[in-house]
This record gives sequence, structure tokens and C-alpha cells, in this order.
Amino acid sequence: MNIKGCERMIIADDKKIKKLNSISVNDVYILADFDGTITEDNSDSSWASIFKNPKVTKDFVDECIRVFSHYHKFEIDESLLVQEKMSIMSEWYRKNIETLINFGITEEIINYAANNESIMAFRDGALEFLKQMNKKNIPIIIISAGVGNIIEQFLIRNNCNYPNIHICSNFLEYNVGVVSGVRNNNLIHPLNKNEISLSSDIKKIISRRENIIILGNNITDVNMVSSNKSVYKIGFLDENIEDRIESFKENFDIVCTHNTSYDEIRSKIKILN
Ligand SMILES: [Mg+2]
Repeated sequence: MNIKGCERMIIADDKKIKKLNSISVNDVYILADFDGTITEDNSDSSWASIFKNPKVTKDFVDECIRVFSHYHKFEIDESLLVQEKMSIMSEWYRKNIETLINFGITEEIINYAANNESIMAFRDGALEFLKQMNKKNIPIIIISAGVGNIIEQFLIRNNCNYPNIHICSNFLEYNVGVVSGVRNNNLIHPLNKNEISLSSDIKKIISRRENIIILGNNITDVNMVSSNKSVYKIGFLDENIEDRIESFKENFDIVCTHNTSYDEIRSKIKILN
């Protein structure tokens, strides 16, 4: 869907960009969502990509759909209190892991998605962006309620698992090549997907940096920040643009529509270039 007469647009708060361009590269870090932010909008999510393996059974896919349909309605029910929703979301994610265990999903199946370009692909310019941030030594923290192993493998396959990138996500553990649980029993779901979930090692790396750039493709991604620092929010809006543009403009400082590439963003924001 295109907004009349406009193929693609970036709406930005000029003052905020000016301020952003005046900070030092040593005083900033990036909090990034993964699915639909680092990857392109029509790329499968790391969870959904597990179904795309020809080796999974119909029973497994049916069970995943059943679990999703049961819990997703609570995720989008705005009448629920956060605390109620929080416990339902952790129950949901525990169920997801249980399903992988019960159906004997293997490491090979998990890695398949990350290794197939037709399933997951970078947003245009993302690879060059990550490379540049590594050169500038700007920490990037990917916070995702997806599957950490798939995100990590995707970066490795694309030769960009740089030392400045830290992934805070659900890392599956294996027993003889079969999923057996999640690392440290630490489940990241849509409601606890924020800086509080970061490990102490990551917290140490960013502790002296006073500015944060958020990259996300959902309004809730702005909640990734939990500290009292200067925040610059960049939102990608590729779906239901007309319906969501106003709330995106309220929540993000920069709104990028119609599959805006990282090259375009970098051309506007010096510090990212
Ligand atoms: Mg996303």
C-alpha cells in the first residue's frame, strides 16, 4: 500500500537528527529489534522459519499453529493488565520451547532457516550498516523474542557476526543435537524484551554510553530502553502504513516507510555513516 504520490518516505524530526549528529561515536549504542528490522519486512521471523524446513512434520506445524492461536489473542488484547499479560506471555514462550522438545526438533532444522536466503534476508543495506558500525566500534545490541541461535547463525553465514554485536534472545540448548531447553532458562518474550534482560557483561559495555539509537518495526520496540538516557528512535513501517502512520509518528523520531534501506537512513544520519 502506498501513500498517495509517495513511493517511500522518511519522516524525521530535524532538530533531533541535528542533535544526534552532534554526539560522539564513543557515547552511543544501538538497541535493535531483529525480525523485520535487521531483516526485510517480508522475511520470515526466526520462529516462523522453523516451520519452513521440509523435515518438520504436519503434526508439529499444527501444534505450533494451535499454540499460536491460543496465545496470540492475549498478546493483542489491550484490556489485559501488563502483569496478567506478562505471565501469559512467559507461559506462551515456555510452551513454544516445550513444543520443540516434544517433537524432537534438531539443531539441523534450527540452522536450516538461517542458512537459506529464501527464508531470511537482510533489509537492503543492513549488511553494510553492520560492517560500518563495527568499524566505528558502536555496540549493537539485538534484543529479540525470536530464536537467538537462528539470529547468530544468520550473522555467521553472512560474515557479519562482529564483536560489537551482542544478541539478547532465546538461545536453544541441545542434547545430542536435539533441542533440550533454553539457555539459563532465560525466556525473552514480547513483554520483557528490554534492557533489563541484558546480561551483566553487556550492561558493562554500554554503561558509560549516554545515547541510545533504537531500531524497530513495532511500536512496542520503543520499550526496549529502560534507562534514563537520551534516546533516538527510528521505526520501520512497512505494513498497514496508512492505519499506523500516526502512532508511529507519535512514538518514533524517524519513521521509514516502504522498505526504506539502511543506505537511505545512513545518508540522513551522519553518525551511522
Ligand atoms: Mg520486529
